[in-house]
Amino acid sequence: MQESMLNIPDTNRERVVIIGCGFAGLEMAKRLKKSNFQVVLIDKNNYHQFQPLFYQVATAGLEPRDISFPIRKIFHEQKDIIIRISEVIGINAESKTVETTIGNLKYDHLVLAQGATTSYFGLNNVEKFSQPMKSVIEALEVLNSILHNLEDALVNTDPENVDELTKIVIVGGGPTGVELSGALAEMKRYVFPKDYPELDCSRIRIILVEASSRLLGGSSEKSSIKAEKFLKKLGVEIMKDTLVVDYDGSTIKLKDKDSIKSKTLIWAAGIKGNEIQGFPKEVSTKSKLLIVDQFHRVKGYNNIYAIGDVAAMISDKWPAGYPQVAQVAIQSARNLASNLINEKKGRNSKPFHYFDWGTMATVGRNKAVVDLKYIKFQGVIAWFAWMFIHLRSIFGVKNKILILINWIWSYITYDQSLRLTFLPKNFRFSRKD
Ligand SMILES: Cc1cc2nc3c(=O)[nH]c(=O)nc-3n(C[C@H](O)[C@H](O)[C@H](O)COP(=O)(O)OP(=O)(O)OC[C@H]3O[C@@H](n4cnc5c(N)ncnc54)[C@H](O)[C@@H]3O)c2cc1C
Repeated sequence: MQESMLNIPDTNRERVVIIGCGFAGLEMAKRLKKSNFQVVLIDKNNYHQFQPLFYQVATAGLEPRDISFPIRKIFHEQKDIIIRISEVIGINAESKTVETTIGNLKYDHLVLAQGATTSYFGLNNVEKFSQPMKSVIEALEVLNSILHNLEDALVNTDPENVDELTKIVIVGGGPTGVELSGALAEMKRYVFPKDYPELDCSRIRIILVEASSRLLGGSSEKSSIKAEKFLKKLGVEIMKDTLVVDYDGSTIKLKDKDSIKSKTLIWAAGIKGNEIQGFPKEVSTKSKLLIVDQFHRVKGYNNIYAIGDVAAMISDKWPAGYPQVAQVAIQSARNLASNLINEKKGRNSKPFHYFDWGTMATVGRNKAVVDLKYIKFQGVIAWFAWMFIHLRSIFGVKNKILILINWIWSYITYDQSLRLTFLPKNFRFSRKD
């Protein structure tokens, strides 16, 4: 393919190509505003996704559009950025070329910010039959399948089948698993009995499976204990020290424990870097994360950088690299952008140090856990803090208002209004024959 297919104007400025417009790529592009570079931002989607609220799309609390933002609109005020919607499939470091689905493009500096995807740790059947939640589309699919299983349960006369259809198993006791199971437990209590009056909703079971001995492994012990207590109060069944080894769409096999029968297995247990061809094996970790130095340079390359979820900046304090959270992505982007600008001015680059503001997770109405650097708190105040921080991070005044209205409405009415199943054209309803 020809570079001209991307229709990028020739320039005598150095070109920075950024792959991915998640938290990292977006911040990077913004920080290079009015710099002396020609900046090209490439993403396979034409929207930026706010991943921390995926679980609310999966539980009908928010619409996809509330947490997805058109990339071109974000950059209305930044005319000097060139945006191309295309998937990057390969890198040729020798010729300094990026290969995309619509053509090739030369770079002077390449910033890899393509994020991460779900890891199934080699469990092929789990990959085939479970449901991940790493994109807004996957979050919608989770919602679709839960609602469809309840519809099926309603017309099913075999009690065993009904049990399978009404049991929702979530694997992974990190923030995603905790937030999702809490929200589903609230739906079971307040929403499903109204939607499905003919169904015995006490039969709906929400089971959270975690391989380690505690939930929210990245939070303080106190927050883990509190989150578990909150979830149990909501009726979530918690299975710790439990390892899923296989799933055939109906039976979840566990290591050294009895199997669970369920039609819904939501996989929130692991992530791996989004791979792009062109790098030797030794450049990445087992989880396909690109190993970078303190200046975000990918091992062995001077002008290729990786930031955000796809990068592993390994140190004594962080032997697996920094955690895959939005703040790491944003702070890395700021550091790299200012280093590039400084280098051009002949100034020294600064090594990256992550400032950890802390962690938080919500478990349900009035229930959240917050661990800040100097203070930890749980309960109602934590819940308000969680809402404030998330609302603050959402793009655009309109989206902030829409989300706030949705949250207030749900709080007052104990209901969400978005239980629609938008099915793909090739969706097949399950048949009896
Ligand atoms: C369900 C969920 C809940 C989370 N909750 C929290 C939370 O509460 N707090 C928190 O701090 N973090 C949370 N995270 C993690 C946080 O969202 C990530 O750390 C953050 O999004 C990483 O940013 P990134 O820019 O590295 O990658 P991403 O945000 O994943 O962005 C990557 C971008 O690259 C694009 N892309 C990928 N491959 C290609 C390709 N080949 N070609 C072109 N474009 C490509 C994608 O379309 C995407 O736009 C959560 C994540 C998930 C999935």
